[in-house]
Amino acid sequence: METRKTQFEKLFPNEPAFRWKQIEDALFSSANGWDEATTIPKSMRESLKEIPWLSVGLANIQVSANGETHKALLNVEGGKQIESVLMANRRGAWTICVSSQVGCAMRCSFCATGKMGLTRNLSSDEIVDQYRFWKMYSENTLPPDHLTTSPRISNIVIMGMGEPLANYEEVRGALNTLLAKTDIGPTHITVSTVGILPRLEQILTDKQWPPVRLAVSLHSAIESTRKQIVPTSYDEFLPGLERWAKNYLKLHGNRRHHLTFEYVMLKGVNDSPTHAKALSTFVNRIGRIKVNLIPYNLTGVDFERSDDTTITAFHDSLQKNNVTATVRRAMGADITAACGQLSIDNPANFD
Ligand code: SAH
Repeated sequence: METRKTQFEKLFPNEPAFRWKQIEDALFSSANGWDEATTIPKSMRESLKEIPWLSVGLANIQVSANGETHKALLNVEGGKQIESVLMANRRGAWTICVSSQVGCAMRCSFCATGKMGLTRNLSSDEIVDQYRFWKMYSENTLPPDHLTTSPRISNIVIMGMGEPLANYEEVRGALNTLLAKTDIGPTHITVSTVGILPRLEQILTDKQWPPVRLAVSLHSAIESTRKQIVPTSYDEFLPGLERWAKNYLKLHGNRRHHLTFEYVMLKGVNDSPTHAKALSTFVNRIGRIKVNLIPYNLTGVDFERSDDTTITAFHDSLQKNNVTATVRRAMGADITAACGQLSIDNPANFD
């Protein structure tokens, strides 16, 4: 798939370098199409219409009953579809949850996207354009009765469909564009990964990888339990993650950069006092880790969410052992927009 930049260079092989910058600025301006991008010469705008202004097209929007979560079904090239989510956050602004792939190859047993399998990677344009789509939506089309907060998008989480580190280059490109062209800083962007260790290692030395926050989906500090629910887990994942996390914190600990471990709470699977103890022991060996407990969101009949009392006891046990932990608020479960519920059963996604 050709990027917008490549398409532009083919259309205008002799343009000076500043021209692409001008076009990229226009894409992130308040213009709603090439016609409104008046910083670009009119003659050029006509030819630019061959390049899609937005590489994601709206197919459907669902809004949760409380108006705080909006889920978009978006068409992407090749008749494929993805989901992307806009959520009201505690800063009085919006957080967007962005997809990095059509489907996902990781097959995590509790995740709806995992059941789809992988269709293809998204391009950096398609990742960036989810932000541009939500920006236009929140500024222009958000119905007033759903405008519970300002239209500003303050945070981005790459936690939608897909495994971002399995699409490393495109995700990295998208992050760099978002950092260059929006007012969102690196500590307000989080990339969530299942924990592909070679890619996590690469981040440590990659000068082009920006200092965004990272969250690793741990889900169990007991190797056999993790392997059971995250089938792509490596043998000896935990010692590998521990080594990597210590190095990461050594390099980045001074940049207000804690590391997050995500932990989905599955009844009778990973929520016992023994699991809580194993988690605090593991975390305390590493250092500045924030644990984010995610009550399981329904994706089928295989699992149940841990009881509230169990989640509280697990949380208390972590805190008693000096582990900082929060329980993630579920957003948009009534429109299947919560963590792990993004899934498309469009037959075109399975060609
Ligand atoms: N591939 C990335 C992004 C996944 S979605 C990753 O693995 O991190 C973000 C988080 O939601 C991950 O921690 C994921 O494990 C979790 N998740 C997946 N299914 C879930 C479900 N049904 N309920 C709650 N959390 C879920």
